[in-house]
Amino acid sequence: MEVMEVFTNIIQRLSNFAFTLQLWDVLDILVIAYLVYRLLLLVRKTNTSRLIKGVLVVIAALWLSSGRLRALNFILAHIVEWGAVALIVLFQPEIRRVLEQVGSSQLPFLQWFSKPQVDRQTIEEAISQTVAACGDMSKSRTGALIVFERHNQMDEILRSGTKLDAEVSSELLKNIFFVKAPMHDGAAIVREGRVLGAGCMLPLSRNVNLSRDLGMRHRAGIGMSENSDAVVVLVSEETGSISVAVGGMLKRHLMTETLEQLLRNELLPQPEEDGETEKKKGLKGLLARERKGGDKDE
Ligand code: ATP
Ligand code: MG
Repeated sequence: MEVMEVFTNIIQRLSNFAFTLQLWDVLDILVIAYLVYRLLLLVRKTNTSRLIKGVLVVIAALWLSSGRLRALNFILAHIVEWGAVALIVLFQPEIRRVLEQVGSSQLPFLQWFSKPQVDRQTIEEAISQTVAACGDMSKSRTGALIVFERHNQMDEILRSGTKLDAEVSSELLKNIFFVKAPMHDGAAIVREGRVLGAGCMLPLSRNVNLSRDLGMRHRAGIGMSENSDAVVVLVSEETGSISVAVGGMLKRHLMTETLEQLLRNELLPQPEEDGETEKKKGLKGLLARERKGGDKDE
């Protein structure tokens, strides 16, 4: 009988709780759940899990030692006090990135407020100029690395290179990546049809399963696409092969027609009604189709 009593007690409490629950409380819970989710994602992405374990051990030790082991408790209390400051310093890059993401509206509910007003014609022109440049650079075996920014802002990356602000043109791109030119090393960054910088350093991919024949340029391109929603176009210096990286996936050996189609699908705003089918024509769709043919690269 006691079990029944416990159950009715719990149900009673739950219903009381449900009655006192207000809209604000639900919102409160949702926001906290979302923040915890983002925090877990961050912890999983970066190598911070060991550090977090360390912090938890210290906090547990602090709790266990309180009241009994006074000297240890005293020391631990001070470590925790200063540890908070130390953590902020240690995680400065991560905290900064999260805040930048909030500002650059990577968070889905903020994207709604700041949908970029892209001028379709400018983007179309930038795409055809890029495709022309890549075709030429592929023939002349000129290495190139071009990042097309989307929602995630690349301000941090732009700071590592030389600032520019020019319309995308085939001539400009070829000039940037010309081997004897000072800015040919590194990546060019394109935002809304304008080259904002060149010679920029990109984060290298952490994927250990990448093909051995991929050098630093390709690893940097893939790394950038893992860390952001950018579309990265590469031309290999060694083989002249054109590739595109999106979401950590690399599609290699593209013909210029395929490159153009891919860039149009990824960069141009798609009509709302058939957004899903259009999206499938992007890199994922292309990969799915190519997989059937037996050629796959990631
Ligand atoms: P390729 O097929 O053109 O030879 P690859 O993938 O074999 O390309 P590397 O030969 O290692 O790559 O290319 C080196 C070039 O890649 C460098 O000269 C530099 O321009 C570029 N690069 C290397 N690392 C980075 C980085 N972190 N960010 C931006 N560009 C980079
Ligand atoms: Mg190489």
